[in-house]
Amino acid sequence: MRYVITGASRGIGFEFVHQLLERGDIVDAGVRTEEGLQRLEPLKRGSAGRLRLHPLDVAEERSVRTFASAVCTEPVDVLINNAGVPGLWCALTDVDYADVVRTFAVNALGPLRVTSALLPALLRGVARKVAHVTSRMGSLAGNSEGGAYAYRMSKVALNMGVRNLSNDLRGQGIVSVLLHPGWVKTDMGGPDAPLPPGDSVRGMLNIIDGLRAEHSGRFFDYQGEEVPW
Ligand code: NDP
Repeated sequence: MRYVITGASRGIGFEFVHQLLERGDIVDAGVRTEEGLQRLEPLKRGSAGRLRLHPLDVAEERSVRTFASAVCTEPVDVLINNAGVPGLWCALTDVDYADVVRTFAVNALGPLRVTSALLPALLRGVARKVAHVTSRMGSLAGNSEGGAYAYRMSKVALNMGVRNLSNDLRGQGIVSVLLHPGWVKTDMGGPDAPLPPGDSVRGMLNIIDGLRAEHSGRFFDYQGEEVPW
């Protein structure tokens, strides 16, 4: 199977690349910086040509277009929209509105932009699956805490975008879902997070492998439990 993944330089995205290569899949990885590309070089060298690296900033229209023209030369089976930023975690009185807009550009608009640009290649694939890594912090029903305006609002917007595009693409046989990875020990999750990236990614790959038409437009955690909207 051929997978495309965004935000592959570290954390959950890096672990997706690692596990997919381990099980024999082909991966096209989008990476934002030169430093990130360097970090993935050893995996690329050991992949026997199964890992291809591409520069990608999901918040930049031109970057997404260049990325799409590189990966759309062949069919894509599964797209994993993983790239994300935490935004500034501040109280109501300290909200930095420019930061909220930047966080939206990456977390909410990035996955939409990438999915739309890769659509021709997804339609030529056999699996036709898109997984969007969101967060339980984007659950309206689950929020009793407040704070983290930029992150929470961007993930709610992502969730609606994905529900919407799932409706739009269902007729073309594309299954699109939202996945909450758990609280994962990465730069974003922090050192106190209980879940190693390996366990989170194993769980999410298990869900992606089992996706069927009836799952489209739904919101699951890494263990397959449905998350309330
Ligand atoms: P990290 O901060 O460890 O990694 C984020 C990744 O996204 C990096 O590869 C980063 O690239 C990339 N990225 C950021 N901005 C862009 C951009 N504009 N274009 C392309 N790539 C970009 O985070 P995690 O691995 O923890 O998070 C991955 C996903 O999981 C995110 O969507 C996050 O919201 C979600 N999530 C994580 C949780 C956790 O506990 N860790 C909990 C719930 C959800 P670079 O290295 O270049 O900055």
